[in-house]
Amino acid sequence: MFSECVTVIECLLPRLNMGITEADLRWWLSGYDVSQVMIGAVASHSALQILHGAKLEGFRTLAIAVGADKRRLYSAFPGAEPDEWLMLDDYKDLMTQVEWLRKKQVIIIPHGSLVEYLGADNYSKLELPTFGNREILRWESSREKQRQWLENSGCKTPKVINDPRDIDSPVIVKYAGAKGGRGYFIARDYRDFRRNVNLDEEFTIQEYVLGCRYYLHFFFDPLAEDGYQVHGIKSNAGKTLGRLELMSMDRRDESNVDEFYKLGSLRDLREMALEPSFVVTGNMPVVLRESLLPEAFRMAEGVVSTSFELEENSRGMIGAFCLETIVTDKLEFRVFEISARIVAGSNPFVSGSSYSDINEKGMSTGRRISRCIKKAIETGNLNRILS
Ligand code: AMP
Repeated sequence: MFSECVTVIECLLPRLNMGITEADLRWWLSGYDVSQVMIGAVASHSALQILHGAKLEGFRTLAIAVGADKRRLYSAFPGAEPDEWLMLDDYKDLMTQVEWLRKKQVIIIPHGSLVEYLGADNYSKLELPTFGNREILRWESSREKQRQWLENSGCKTPKVINDPRDIDSPVIVKYAGAKGGRGYFIARDYRDFRRNVNLDEEFTIQEYVLGCRYYLHFFFDPLAEDGYQVHGIKSNAGKTLGRLELMSMDRRDESNVDEFYKLGSLRDLREMALEPSFVVTGNMPVVLRESLLPEAFRMAEGVVSTSFELEENSRGMIGAFCLETIVTDKLEFRVFEISARIVAGSNPFVSGSSYSDINEKGMSTGRRISRCIKKAIETGNLNRILS
């Protein structure tokens, strides 16, 4: 059984509508037989990688899906096929299956599809032990909060244009609820903006940064005391917070912007009534020139140390995160987004990457998550990496 004791007082603490508390987590874990933990994921996004990695680390696995097609698909990948399935009529029904899942000793690994299918609000109330810090996902889901976090971390972000009449060079217009770049558009001036914009939706106008895109996949292990240690700032000044690792790096294939040039200039395309779109269709592995790595680590370290200061008593970053960057021809990074969880861009690296292989052959981000859970079980620290 989970060794840390839970006081009766902790369990009786009012929830005050604050979502899941640390006392909830401790209470659930007190009922877990940690030798029987199952790694669970919604069968989508990066689940093949997560389940495969969990199996390699010796865990039993469970997948959650809607529709028999998913189950059939996973039978094509026996190396990731889960030991058990939870089949639902609707992903929101997951909210009512939590007791059953806790009896199965499930730890959920969140990814982009889980949060999208459940909705951020439901996700924050999901009564299941979940890998990582859900509080951080709230910061991730607001563009303004993200920007604040990145800038406080010492990352340069693309300029934001508050008044569309000030557009005097190419900008990218992003809608608040847009998924996977769908609906974004480029405008060269105010006229362009007026012609394309849907004023009924909330949007942000960002400087269009010209350069090469690199999506940097990091892992922060708060339990590891060796390697590239992150140093605390402000309330944690002087403390070492844990180990930062670079797992892999990808570039997304985006349809149709990545193939647009084949049809001519932007002006030619406009004459054909075509506009570029940014819908992610796949991912490719990349590596960064080595002289840019110190800056990549500096930015990631800043993001991790600042994550502990986002709110009072923040538990900070735990596990996988991704910095979405553009490197300009001046060899400067602009970070246009952060994801505080495993990203689908890590999928090309199921059997390791040019970076993770240096430390241990065959280490994917999915497997690294299970390794972190395994180590936490061995050292009685599960409550420090879950929420
Ligand atoms: P996002 O939804 O922020 O991840 O952006 C989707 C895609 O839009 C990115 O992968 C880039 O191709 C492009 N993009 C986003 N922001 C910018 C920017 N400020 N400048 C240039 N391209 C961008």
